[in-house]
Amino acid sequence: MTAQLIDGKKISEQRLDAVSAAVAQRQAANLRRPCLAVVLVGNDPASAVYVRNKKRACEKVNFESRAYELPENTQEAELLNLIDEMNADNGVDGILVQLPLPKHIDSQKVLERILPHKDVDGFHPYNVGRLAVKMPLMRPCTPKGVMTLLAAYGVDVVGKKAVVVGASNIVGRPQALELLLARATVTICHSATQNLAEEVAAADIVVVGVGKPNFVKGAWIKPGAVVIDVGINRLDNGSLCGDVEFAAAKERAAMITPVPGGVGPMTIVTLLENTLQAAQIHDLD
Ligand code: NAP
Repeated sequence: MTAQLIDGKKISEQRLDAVSAAVAQRQAANLRRPCLAVVLVGNDPASAVYVRNKKRACEKVNFESRAYELPENTQEAELLNLIDEMNADNGVDGILVQLPLPKHIDSQKVLERILPHKDVDGFHPYNVGRLAVKMPLMRPCTPKGVMTLLAAYGVDVVGKKAVVVGASNIVGRPQALELLLARATVTICHSATQNLAEEVAAADIVVVGVGKPNFVKGAWIKPGAVVIDVGINRLDNGSLCGDVEFAAAKERAAMITPVPGGVGPMTIVTLLENTLQAAQIHDLD
């Protein structure tokens, strides 16, 4: 069997069009364009690329965007002050602080300072907690984007055995909560998991976010499973690859996401969808 490719680029473009249409409708109704404020601290080159991509995505859907590029030696108190200002600014709907922050800044403290309704990354414990108690509000972008992809490809999650490999705050944990909310039977694997291959081999749906190239072997995949590879790894030759051994997994899976062109584009469009949602909540204030 050769798996059907799950085309995140195509689905993300359809969703971008829907966001653009919603912005046009808002303007026709004399409502503000949604506004996303992005804060970058320091000179991490990968972060600079992510921030540039987010700014471009805002332009594509006609959002307002504000960029704050702060030097590496910015003090935590200055960053917290900026967040307070943006929290109080009625012109800002969504606030995103690009991670990782320099080591002298407490990231968790910074993320918790963002008003939950403006937390378009969905990383505030309030929003993670809401997802955990089946009352989602702002949902972490990557896991929500994965759920959008599964729905777009008609994958029925209810009652399926879903295995999430990786348990980070931004990928694995909220992914497991999303799958549980969608009524899958969920197993979460991490670096202390024993018999990982056996866990993966039992999965109808496997979502991998570990950050190690080709870490999940194709031979582990249950024939007919749906494989979602969140990993993005740059190899020495400059090319990108995921966390799943793609060529071998493709021969066993029913559906699989490529890297690049799978989950990555969904994360950005989900950020825009969250910002639109934040603007809609803001309209009601
Ligand atoms: P992370 O914070 O480093 O977390 C990695 C997770 O993998 C941890 O939970 C860790 O377990 C687990 N892990 C490490 N070694 C393992 C092993 N041998 N067996 C099982 N689990 C193991 O990474 P992250 O931020 O979640 O990112 C993961 C990957 O996703 C990266 O490649 C990143 O670039 C990519 N990513 C992609 C997108 C996108 O939009 N497509 C968005 C975010 C991240 P412990 O908890 O036990 O340490």
